[in-house]
Amino acid sequence: VAGFTEEELVSALRTILNEDAVGVRLGLGDDAALVDPGSHLMVLTSDLLVEGVHFQRETTSPHDLGYKSLAVNVSDVAAMGGSPRYALVSLGIPQSVEMAWVVELYAGLRDAASEYAMTIVGGDTSRSDSILISVAVAGEVAEGLAVTRSGARPGDRVVVTGALGAAAGGLRLASAPKIDVAAVASSSGRELLAAHARPQARVGEGQTLAREGATAMIDVSDGLAVDLGHLCRESKVGASIVLADVPIAPSLAELASTLGVDPLELALGGGEDYELLATLPPMAVPLTVQLLKDRFGTALTDIGEVRSGEGMLAVEDDGSERPLEAEGWDHFGRT
Ligand SMILES: [Mg+2]
Repeated sequence: VAGFTEEELVSALRTILNEDAVGVRLGLGDDAALVDPGSHLMVLTSDLLVEGVHFQRETTSPHDLGYKSLAVNVSDVAAMGGSPRYALVSLGIPQSVEMAWVVELYAGLRDAASEYAMTIVGGDTSRSDSILISVAVAGEVAEGLAVTRSGARPGDRVVVTGALGAAAGGLRLASAPKIDVAAVASSSGRELLAAHARPQARVGEGQTLAREGATAMIDVSDGLAVDLGHLCRESKVGASIVLADVPIAPSLAELASTLGVDPLELALGGGEDYELLATLPPMAVPLTVQLLKDRFGTALTDIGEVRSGEGMLAVEDDGSERPLEAEGWDHFGRT
């Protein structure tokens, strides 16, 4: 690999990564890791980040990239109501990448692992034409508490954690053809950039939603409308969303005109917010709202209802309804 050997890299990484953790019998350095899975169900997920498709080397710090590549996997575990435990990180590295870049990437991975109380127990490295980062996460969930996309029932409320659109606003700000120094330096600008560069997975919130009876759940990676579409399809239901109730990130609202964007459009279609979208029986909503606020300081907003039949509707301010277009972030079309 580039100007350093794989052995040198692995030895550097072993000094970055803390391998002592509950359940880890054997971490980095052998043919495989050994972990004690306990008595829970295992939750397994993986995600591939490709340079030029999911990120640009020139505009992304390796530290943020490392953090984000773990956090997006954690978000998928959170969306099942699970708790993340272990990660495997595999890396494709072109000749042009320096060891310092890789070490920074792992420092970001380590920071995210520490934030979510996880351990990086292994992985692989190889030469490649562009940077490839593949992260796999194993987590756990108690039998009966896993929440899938398929359990929503007509009459359930549709709820979402936090606020939406900030990550998409951050991406617009970071990739604007002309850097708006004042906007980037403002506190709202920094919030938007951070939302895109270092998304926060809603692990505790997901577990609370599961315990309070969430019937279906998904993380908002592709955009509210697209992800609600996934949930509705798997549950064989429809939904209506009250547009005025969709929580828009305040920092996005503040900078929307500077960025020349419609904040509602980014909140519905922007993606990468990694908030949780769930369905709850109506009776469970008030307590769950209170618990998320008390435990995590996280808002939970009721934005609509599950309906029988297919299709998603947007309810306008005057009560009229129109189809909710599932236009979101296209993983395959973006460059
Ligand atoms: Mg997901």
